[in-house]
Amino acid sequence: MPELIDQFGRKIEYLRLSVTDRCDFRCFYCIPKGFKDFSDNENRLTLDEIVRLVGIFSRMGVSKIRFTGGEPLVRRDIAEMVTQIGALPGIDDLSMSTNASQLAQHATTLKQAGVSRINVSLDSLKPDVFKQITQGDLNKVIDGLMAAKAAGLHPIKINMVVMRDLNLGEVGDMVDFCLENHFTLRFIETMPIGAAGQEATDNYVGMDEIIKIIETRFALEPAKMKGAGPAKYLKVVGGRLKFGFITPMSQHFCGDCNRVRLSSEGTLYLCLGQHDKLELRPLVRQGLSDAELEQAIHQAILQKPEKHEFNSKPDQVVRIMSMTGG
Ligand code: SAM
Ligand code: SF4
Repeated sequence: MPELIDQFGRKIEYLRLSVTDRCDFRCFYCIPKGFKDFSDNENRLTLDEIVRLVGIFSRMGVSKIRFTGGEPLVRRDIAEMVTQIGALPGIDDLSMSTNASQLAQHATTLKQAGVSRINVSLDSLKPDVFKQITQGDLNKVIDGLMAAKAAGLHPIKINMVVMRDLNLGEVGDMVDFCLENHFTLRFIETMPIGAAGQEATDNYVGMDEIIKIIETRFALEPAKMKGAGPAKYLKVVGGRLKFGFITPMSQHFCGDCNRVRLSSEGTLYLCLGQHDKLELRPLVRQGLSDAELEQAIHQAILQKPEKHEFNSKPDQVVRIMSMTGG
């Protein structure tokens, strides 16, 4: 069985699955205002198609799966999907990125189905600012987070997209909230993905500025974190509190990229910041065998671009984040 190694020698072992491009929130940096062009039902991969494709990837060396979207918990068959994918040989790490609005109903099921780690987007602890950013209800997210904690999901990472005019002043409050609840806090730089992301970069804040804010309270030193992926971690000297920094703009991490993304419509995106892709849905629906699909995936991986060009070509990616699966 061929392993998935690209032309730059990077081994692909991580698949991010955008199980739906739909979402019950409308974060302004993710989904453009008034956007209606979501995928049609018939173009969305079915549960069986997704499980089959993940099975093929797992036989080619992919062992880590992250369920994302859009909002993965709006997909009705998500618990069944997680259970079936978790049972595939070779898959040893299941995680989810969620806005947590429906996590209170799903936390126990997810835990039982084998999801070990969750990342929750949380940009503000002020209900009005939260609403301004997401159009969603902060209370539901907090309920979801508490349910996840009670269900024993661990670690719970909070992803905060820091934006100058909206939540830069809340970095300290978010640190306290995560400290109290034993959540790991990660800061994300705004990326120019789709019209919404491109507009949001007006509010961009680089990580150095956030590190300086945290250093007014804590002395920091480099830290290691299991499954850190592209995030760099710093920890409080002499303590256990850790902070993650996802810096696609100020310090790209493409040299270590080990991932590809499968959209809910069955498009395999080879890079978050480029157009290179393989349309798998037509191949699956034309009746290709597993061996033929493996061959197509193997060829596609050889086309994985070396790096994104968010800084030099910020207008390049027109597809929206919820489609690719952030
Ligand atoms: N709905 C889930 C959530 O919000 O966690 C999963 C999908 S969401 C697209 C995944 C991550 O992408 C979130 O942490 C979100 O903040 C981030 N994201 C979306 N648009 C972004 C942008 N333009 N720049 C940086 N991060 C972005
Ligand atoms: Fe939905 Fe997540 Fe995008 Fe916000 S970032 S609109 S929660 S998919």
